[in-house]
Amino acid sequence: MKRYIAKACPITILICLLCLLVMQGCTAPGEVKEHTRNLLALNTWINIRIYAGREGPEIINSAVQRLEEIENRMSVTIQDSDVSRINSNAGIQPVKVHEDTFEVIEKALEYASLSNGAFDITIYPIVQLWGIGSDHPRVPSDEEIKEKLKLVDYQKVMLNKDEGTVYLKEKGMGIDLGAIAKGYAADEVVRVLSQAGVKHALINMGGNVIVIGSKPNGQPWKIGIQDPRSDVLQQHIAVVETANESVVSSGDYERYIEDVYKKTGVRYHHIFDPSTGYPANKGLMAVTVVAEKSIDADALSTVVFVMGADEGLDIIEQMENVEALAVTMDKKIHTTKGFDKRLSVTNEEYEIIP
Ligand code: ADP
Ligand code: MG
Repeated sequence: MKRYIAKACPITILICLLCLLVMQGCTAPGEVKEHTRNLLALNTWINIRIYAGREGPEIINSAVQRLEEIENRMSVTIQDSDVSRINSNAGIQPVKVHEDTFEVIEKALEYASLSNGAFDITIYPIVQLWGIGSDHPRVPSDEEIKEKLKLVDYQKVMLNKDEGTVYLKEKGMGIDLGAIAKGYAADEVVRVLSQAGVKHALINMGGNVIVIGSKPNGQPWKIGIQDPRSDVLQQHIAVVETANESVVSSGDYERYIEDVYKKTGVRYHHIFDPSTGYPANKGLMAVTVVAEKSIDADALSTVVFVMGADEGLDIIEQMENVEALAVTMDKKIHTTKGFDKRLSVTNEEYEIIP
């Protein structure tokens, strides 16, 4: 008997060790580990990283489902989306839309009046004319721009809250939620994840970042601000520390007409100034806004980019719990008061001007 135990022991120990090794690869109930997913939605690459137990992949599935739902309602390229139906009924009749879409359009109109029209979702005829980001971008003539600009006016978007309808007053008008829908989607992903009990997460939607809580070790998340003049992704000019917030960047580097830029050095990009019909040209390369809600950070990053550093940052200064930075062409990083303390510059060519 003694001999039997002596013989069995090493084998038993080996089996136990093997079991332990295998178990390390799986997640025991209650044990929290990192789960990540990459997907293409809302016209951008999205990365979802959460810290959760065994149910992690299912939790991510429900977040992805919510993203797809929002895309199907708000995409301007999906034929039966709410937005496409609103556009094809411009000047004809009001269109009943889902509450999600109504809420985003309502918020977009608030930002339009706050920014005196610098933010304007009825910019779509101009977006289409330039085709930036499509496979046929071009620089249109002044006449063409003038003609399309007549159709840009957020005051001609009629909302009926009781009926849940949206109506564009003139034929040819169109809306595009590209500057705000990603923010709404990010907030909704956070809501779904939080409801499922997730305490730590980071979601990156092509420059729109939102985090839940801190890092699992209690440290703040460090979010890199993309170098607007580097072709390499993840090349940063500064890092901002954050927890429970959204950090959204917009700039002239994301989408522009590349061959014209190579030939002439002029960068025709995708953020338009509704007062001219040309790409916004207030001396900025990039803007980052930090706010609790991603929908606010998203809309406001476009607002500041169109208005410029002085006027744009003044608007942010008047808001509570919102901070911003604006990067000028001469590589100066202008910030709202106090925000510079949360930033560390990682590229010596850039300098903070608080
Ligand atoms: P991105 O989503 O590329 O990070 P933005 O959030 O600034 O950048 O949104 C840019 C998109 O918003 C454009 O592609 C266009 O569809 C739309 N857009 C462009 N100019 C404006 C504007 N002045 N107001 C509202 N929407 C705009
Ligand atoms: Mg935006």
